[in-house]
Amino acid sequence: MTRTLRGFSAPQQPEPLTRTHLVQFSEDEASLIDAVSTFIGAGLAAEEVCILITTPSHLQSLEQRLQAEGFDLALARDSGIFISRDAAMTLECFLIDGEPDPIRFAEVIKPLIEEAGQRNCRVRIFGEMVALLWAQGKRTAAVRLEAVWNEFLTRSSFLLFCAYPIQAMSGSRHEAQFTQICRQHSHIVLPESYTRLSERERGQAFALLQQKAHSLEAEIAERKAAEQHLRVLASIVESSDDAILSKDLDGFITSWNNAAERIYGYSEQEMIGQHVTILFPHDRHKEYEQIMECIRRDERIEHYETRRRRKDGTELLVSITISPVKDEAGVICGVSSIARDITKQRLLADQSQQLFASNLIGIFLADRAGTLQEVNQAFLDLVGYTRAEWQAEMERASFAASHLRPLVLQTSQEHSSNAPQETVIPHKSGRAIPVLVAVTCISHGGTYIGFVLDISERKELEQRKDTFIGMASHELKTPVTCLKGCLTLLQRLLANQDNEKVLRNLTRMDAQIEKLTKLINDLLDISRMQTGKLIYREEEIEVDALVQDVVESVQETTMTHQLQIRGASRAFVLGDRDRLGQVLINLLTNAMKYSPDAHLVIVHPSTEGRQVLISVQDFGLGIAKEHHHKIFERFYQVTDQAEKTYPGLGIGLTISSEIVKRHQGRLWVESERGQGAIFYLSLPLLQRADHPTEPTETASEKG
Ligand code: ADP
Repeated sequence: MTRTLRGFSAPQQPEPLTRTHLVQFSEDEASLIDAVSTFIGAGLAAEEVCILITTPSHLQSLEQRLQAEGFDLALARDSGIFISRDAAMTLECFLIDGEPDPIRFAEVIKPLIEEAGQRNCRVRIFGEMVALLWAQGKRTAAVRLEAVWNEFLTRSSFLLFCAYPIQAMSGSRHEAQFTQICRQHSHIVLPESYTRLSERERGQAFALLQQKAHSLEAEIAERKAAEQHLRVLASIVESSDDAILSKDLDGFITSWNNAAERIYGYSEQEMIGQHVTILFPHDRHKEYEQIMECIRRDERIEHYETRRRRKDGTELLVSITISPVKDEAGVICGVSSIARDITKQRLLADQSQQLFASNLIGIFLADRAGTLQEVNQAFLDLVGYTRAEWQAEMERASFAASHLRPLVLQTSQEHSSNAPQETVIPHKSGRAIPVLVAVTCISHGGTYIGFVLDISERKELEQRKDTFIGMASHELKTPVTCLKGCLTLLQRLLANQDNEKVLRNLTRMDAQIEKLTKLINDLLDISRMQTGKLIYREEEIEVDALVQDVVESVQETTMTHQLQIRGASRAFVLGDRDRLGQVLINLLTNAMKYSPDAHLVIVHPSTEGRQVLISVQDFGLGIAKEHHHKIFERFYQVTDQAEKTYPGLGIGLTISSEIVKRHQGRLWVESERGQGAIFYLSLPLLQRADHPTEPTETASEKG
């Protein structure tokens, strides 16, 4: 090459390094053209082979620029040192499934470089294919292509220059790939605006950039936090049960949440831009002006109760809080309104008020500490106070403290309603009134409502009934005892006479008199229990011997069931042998009575800790859970279809339970309907020096 390609001498550029991969992140088109034309211009001036793989528009701009700088590009092309290729078309030649294929790449690029190699001069390439891929969003492919170039550079020697518009790289989501791109290059070329600066100025520019980057990072973090905060607020607004809306100062709606749609029936679409008075009933229109006046005075309206109209024309009661909305400068620019639908609440309050005033039953309201807040007239009538007297009584806090407070406290501790309980409350006169009280919580704020029913009459009736039972059983006992005596005498007198029919009938009479005697004894026990006159003896009892005796005597009365004792307690208890025997007899006869289709009853004496435990297990009808406690109450019998056919008074377990309680023991049942039942009797163990008790098995070891 003899002619220079440029009308003036080549600028003093540092000797370009071969196998160098340069990159520039240009801020705009002009700086890109500047950088590339400088890069190519230096190559042309040094008569190196310059290859441009660019977009048509960049090629045009570059050609114009180079020509303007005096390069004779036609001559350069003819001489084979200025070669250009279309970036998109070249890319197409080696992409497979959008990814650069190294083999095809080599097939396309290698000939270009080899041709230059034959000329024995250096080669510099400006390539825009990576930037093209990046711009198309194929960023992974761009990074990959950079790697393919690098790989190629290890085998050929040339100077490669890439340029990306910096705008396309901005954003934290590109950070990782941007870093990869930087790492793929041996040099990063600064834009000319930086290269022109002195070292000191460059340092300052760098510091400024650092400062900007930090400020941006801080601002982004702040913005993210603010956005997150806004998102939280938005989701609160959207998930709120209250209608939340905003309007401008002319009353036109600017936002409308889900609850507003639910409460008023209008969708967000229907309401944005509508005037808020669409929600006002006709007779409430003047409210609008009053509200806006308050807002203009920068006043907030809180819990204002009014009526509003739904889309379907029906009205609702709302409690509204309205506040001015201000802009950054603190100037009122809108109005926010939060409305709660209180229609049901109000209705409920009215109904409660009516119930309270109905005076059908005594009602009190109390706080969670059990202090009475309010009582109705029926309550006052019950306790015999006038309202004024009651107020005075309340100030002394004497009544509630002693009588109803425990029930309220129990309800509040158990977080539930409590089952009606019998108690007594004092009448003004000092008389005790038996009442049935049920308490329940009616608000989360801790208001409790109690219903108080006077059960004096029922109690009196019960009392009369008890007296009658006591009297009747007492009166019956004498003739029955007399009958029994006569019968025994008759049996003895007729024993030697050979009249089998008479003797059989006497035996049947005896059995019936036995039953009658048991019935009368049970009724007498119940009656004595009521009056606290059930007498107990106290003696040391060998549990296993007692169990053995009772089981043997009950076994004699039955042909249908086999009573089996499993295990032994080897324990002693202190108590009344006959009474405890009575409990066991009752459990065994029940076990047989309520297991007509089974044949086995298992009695299992054992010890557990400091208790003696005797269980009686049958395989009969079983008892549903809901009856477990009630069967120990007086006269309670399970009245399911299957039980109806069994005779009884429902007092056996009541007496048993009372006897066990008097022995400081416990009687309970474990059972399910249809699965048989296990009754447990536990009594305190007697520790005797001469009979050290060794626990045998525990209840849990039982089968
Ligand atoms: P009753 O004289 O009616 O048997 P109890 O007080 O002894 O009176 O028992 C009360 C009720 O408990 C019975 O009516 C019966 O419904 C139920 N019950 C008692 N023991 C058993 C049992 N082993 N299996 C099923 N139900 C039983």
